[in-house]
Amino acid sequence: MWHPLQAEFPQQQPLTGFLRGPSEIKTGEAIGIVTCGSGCIRPVKESASGWLETAFYDPRKHAKLVVMGRKNGMPLLLRLAKRGEAKAEDWPNLRSWLLESDAESFDLLATAASLANWQEQHRYCGRCGCKTQPRNDEYAHQCPRCHLRQYPRVSPCIITLVWREDALLLARSPRFAPGVYSTLAGFIEAGESAEQALHREVEEEVSVKIGNFKYLGSQSWPFPNSLMLGYWAEYQGGDIAFDGIEIEDAQWYPFDQLPELPAKASISRYLIDSFLRWKGVDS
Ligand SMILES: [Zn+2]
Repeated sequence: MWHPLQAEFPQQQPLTGFLRGPSEIKTGEAIGIVTCGSGCIRPVKESASGWLETAFYDPRKHAKLVVMGRKNGMPLLLRLAKRGEAKAEDWPNLRSWLLESDAESFDLLATAASLANWQEQHRYCGRCGCKTQPRNDEYAHQCPRCHLRQYPRVSPCIITLVWREDALLLARSPRFAPGVYSTLAGFIEAGESAEQALHREVEEEVSVKIGNFKYLGSQSWPFPNSLMLGYWAEYQGGDIAFDGIEIEDAQWYPFDQLPELPAKASISRYLIDSFLRWKGVDS
């Protein structure tokens, strides 16, 4: 019998050929540049990926770009969009672009978006206020005065499909595309375990009790820096109730009467599809 933990979700596979972190780049070396910022990405029409610009490394032009790593040996650099650039040139929204990307592009673009947010938001030391400098041996900024190191921020979140014997609990937030229902999600608070966050978030959002957690996998979601930890959770009791603000609707859906679901590349959809496969239902 098919088992959910043997299921393939692209983000559970290693990103082959990609070495993360800075490295020394020689003048004249072939490089790839991705440009993003303000939640948008600069399209590059002439590239196969649609987003990677190629160039030869020139320290006068490229020394200030962020080195993401090397893909099959080629340095990948990140350029932060200038203020107003994305709007003036009508760049596409990175969120929707990501969900239509293949798994490899998803990983690289999620890395670029996370690093771009970090660069934009952590330019000064949080302890003494001095302007920080990038380190050349790891993803980190260091304060030249007090030596505090800051690393790209990753915020763990839980995301969970709540199920019972004959139905799935799906909800929608006002931020979703019209008609789309999804799984429940929320940030893990300081000092909290993932399991405690599952109990708390689901109770806060829809007032039901859950248990019997099964971890299915994770996905980076760089808006601005989430790491989604995906679970199934079995319903244990209570009636659905929600606040109408964060959650505008939540219902039990029988397996054969599901509403419109999130994009295929999202972990929420993976949680739903893998559950239905486990139950032997075609989705
Ligand atoms: Zn400092």
